[in-house]
Amino acid sequence: MHIELDADQRRLRDEIRQFLAAELPQDLATRVRHGQSISKEDQIRWTRILHARGWAAPHWPQEHGGTGWSLIQRHIFDVECRAFQAPVLSGFGFNMVGPAILRHGTAEQKAEFLPKILRAELWWCQGYSEPQAGSDLASLRTRAVREGDEYVVTGQKSWTSGAEIADWIFCLVRTDPTVQMQRGISFLLIDLNSPGISIEPLYAFNGKRLWNQVFFDSVRVPIAQRLGEEDKGWTVAKSLLGDERLMVSRVAENKRLLNRLREVLGQEQEGSRPLDQTTLIRRRLSELDIRLQALEMTSLRLLSEADKGGQVGAEPSMLKLKGSQLVQAMDELLVEAIGHWALPLDAGSTGSAVGPAYAEYIASGLFHHRGYSIAGGSSEVQHNIIAKQVLGL
Ligand SMILES: Cc1cc2nc3c(=O)[nH]c(=O)nc-3n(C[C@H](O)[C@H](O)[C@H](O)COP(=O)(O)OP(=O)(O)OC[C@H]3O[C@@H](n4cnc5c(N)ncnc54)[C@H](O)[C@@H]3O)c2cc1C
Repeated sequence: MHIELDADQRRLRDEIRQFLAAELPQDLATRVRHGQSISKEDQIRWTRILHARGWAAPHWPQEHGGTGWSLIQRHIFDVECRAFQAPVLSGFGFNMVGPAILRHGTAEQKAEFLPKILRAELWWCQGYSEPQAGSDLASLRTRAVREGDEYVVTGQKSWTSGAEIADWIFCLVRTDPTVQMQRGISFLLIDLNSPGISIEPLYAFNGKRLWNQVFFDSVRVPIAQRLGEEDKGWTVAKSLLGDERLMVSRVAENKRLLNRLREVLGQEQEGSRPLDQTTLIRRRLSELDIRLQALEMTSLRLLSEADKGGQVGAEPSMLKLKGSQLVQAMDELLVEAIGHWALPLDAGSTGSAVGPAYAEYIASGLFHHRGYSIAGGSSEVQHNIIAKQVLGL
C-alpha cells in the first residue's frame, strides 16, 4: 500500500531525511537498531541536536520553541525518525508536563521550565500511580496540606519510571479529602532534591530497574509550584493528554520494527533458504504488515480529522490497544525465530554474545514491550472505553 503525500508533505519529509542523514550520530543509531538502551547522556546529546534545528518539541507552539506542524506533519517526522533509528526523546518533559505547563502554567512557570526542557537541562518523571491507585487513579491518597504559602506533602508514589535519573517530578496529590474523588486533587511540580523525599528502586522480572517508589515525608512545596487551580488537578491531568491522545498508535515504531524484522529474518537461514523466504515466515510477515496498514490508515484518518478541527472521541483507545498489541506480535515472531541467540546475554551473563549483534537485545525488547499493555491505561481499561464510548454497549 502506498500512502500519497502532497507536495508540501514530500518536501518536509525530504528535509527531515536530509537532516537525519547529516546529524544523527551513527553510534546512537546503531544502539537503537540493536535495541540497546540509550543512556541519559546520549538522550541529552540527541535532544540538543534536535533543539538546535528547532525540532526537539515539534508539537509545541512556535513561540515556545515548537514548529506549529499539523498532526500529519508530526506523523511524517515520527516515521522518518524511527526509520533512521533515532532515539525517542524522554516523553515526561516534552509530551506530558511541557504541554501541561503550556496550557495551564503561569508566565513565570513557562519562563522557568519550558526552555530547560527544550535544552534537556531538566529531567522529569511522572508521579501519578500509587500502591492503591492505578487504573482507578482518582482514589490516590498522597496528601498535600496547605501551610502558609507552601504545601506539606506526605505519601507514596509507585511505578515511577526514571525517578532515579530525574530532577523533578510532576505529581497528582489530594488537597481536599472531603469532596468527590476527582475534585480534591491538585497538580504539583516538585524538586526531587527537596528534603523529605526518598527514592527506592523497583525491579522488573528480568532484573532491570524499571521503576521506583517515591516517598514523601512532610515535603514542603511552594504554592507557586502548583500547576492550575487548587483542587482542579484532575482537569490538568486530563487536558495533558489533549491531541497527544491521538499520537499513541505506535505506527512509526511498528514500521521500524517490521523493517527490522524483515532485515533480520533475511539474514537467518533455514536450510539453504533465508528465513524470510519460508512459507510460514512469509505468511506471518504478511499478517503483521496487513495489521500495520490497517493501523496506519485508521491513525491517519483520525489525525486528518483532528487537523481539520474535528472532535477527538474515544477512538485513541483503539489506536493504543492495536498499536501495543502489534509491537508485541512483532516481538513474538522475532523471539520465536531467533530467540535462541538472545537469552544467554540477556539473562545477565557477563560473557560475550553467542549470536549475531542484531539478536542480543531481542529478549529485552519482548519483556519491555509487555508493559505497553499496562502503562498509560491498561488494555482491559481500553476495552471498557471502546465498548462503552465507541460501540455504545
Ligand atoms: C512500564 C510501565 C511504566 C510505568 N510508568 C509509570 C510512571 O512513570 N508513573 C506513574 O505514575 N505510573 C507508571 N506506571 C503505572 C501504570 O500507570 C499503572 O500500572 C496502571 O495505571 C495500572 O495500574 P495498576 O498497576 O495499579 O493495576 P490495577 O489498576 O490494579 O489493575 C490490575 C489489573 O486489573 C485490570 N483492571 C483494573 N480496572 C479494571 C476495570 N475497570 N475493568 C477491567 N479490568 C480492570 C487491569 O487491566 C489490570 O490487568 C507504569 C506502568 C508500567 C507497566
